[in-house]
Amino acid sequence: MRFLVFLEHNGGALEKGALGVLSKAAALGEAHGVVLGDGATALASGAGAYGASKVYASDAPELASPLPQPRVDALATLVEETGADAVLFGASVLASDVASGLAARLGAGLNWDLTDLSVDGDELVGTRPALGDTVVVDVGWTDGPRLALVRAGAFDPVESGGNADVESFEPTFSDFSTLATLVEQTQEESSGPSIEDADIIVAGGRGLGTPEGFTMLEELAAALGGAVGATRAVVDAGWYPYSTQVGQTGKSVAPKLYIACGISGAIQHKVGMQGSGTIVAINKDPNAPIFDFCDIGVVGDLHQIVPKLTELVRARG
Ligand code: FAD
Repeated sequence: MRFLVFLEHNGGALEKGALGVLSKAAALGEAHGVVLGDGATALASGAGAYGASKVYASDAPELASPLPQPRVDALATLVEETGADAVLFGASVLASDVASGLAARLGAGLNWDLTDLSVDGDELVGTRPALGDTVVVDVGWTDGPRLALVRAGAFDPVESGGNADVESFEPTFSDFSTLATLVEQTQEESSGPSIEDADIIVAGGRGLGTPEGFTMLEELAAALGGAVGATRAVVDAGWYPYSTQVGQTGKSVAPKLYIACGISGAIQHKVGMQGSGTIVAINKDPNAPIFDFCDIGVVGDLHQIVPKLTELVRARG
């Protein structure tokens, strides 16, 4: 099966989520990548290390801003020229826009929120959690090209050390696709990794007591080289930014270590972090639901435990 993987990039680097999808595609069949926008050609060859045998690149000025519609044009051009069997996307705001626009343009089926992919004979099969992640279903496509949007963090990038042929191409843009312009773009101030990329997440919930409680978590996260996450309860209360919300209506994350501080473990939170390698929970209520699915549970007051933990991590250097 021939896959075309949309390789999103930011700040001069290919996105980890997209590279994870590329590695998965390479494990299932012939994986080609596509990089679009400023600096695309320079970035394209880097995808060879993650399994792409060929990467299509276009630095066309129409693609300079991260707007979806010109990308739909570019991908539609490529799918028509290459006859790719499937087009895969790692979920992000931009990728979701592009994938849905491409589905409409090509009259193709899009399965989204997939947590796994496999090939069964000539068929691509997606795995999709449903009903609030309480059941997992297999999904397929009745016709090609098959479009798939993969849940963030579902696949880790795997370095295979290969090389990719880079091929420049000229997309055909529709007039209506270039009517929108980007007026302004602002970067959220942040230090350290984002929760999508972090190997370690220190997450806080209502048990912190006040928004200031997050300072304590930021210190622990900084000592561990991790990122800070939050529950919806505290995001809704305005204690921490929405971009850090983990769960059903936030982000799905799968770090190696997830430290949940003052989080009860509601199902809507659990579905966004249950794929984490090791889950540590700090909660003063021994009956908190999070103790039913964490790997290490600490019953106690986080205000005493978290600063002590930070001190110990710092002491280990
Ligand atoms: P609480 O449930 O209030 O838990 C606080 C915990 O802190 C308690 O267990 C308490 O024992 C503990 N605690 C208190 N003080 C201390 C202390 N000093 N030391 C240690 N522990 C302490 N939630 C999400 O997180 N993400 C989502 O994406 C999401 N989506 C939702 C979508 C829908 C449609 C709905 C209905 C709900 C959604 N929720 C989501 C909300 C979810 O149901 C819970 O309300 C929320 O996760 C609870 O957040 P919390 O754990 O911070 O707060």
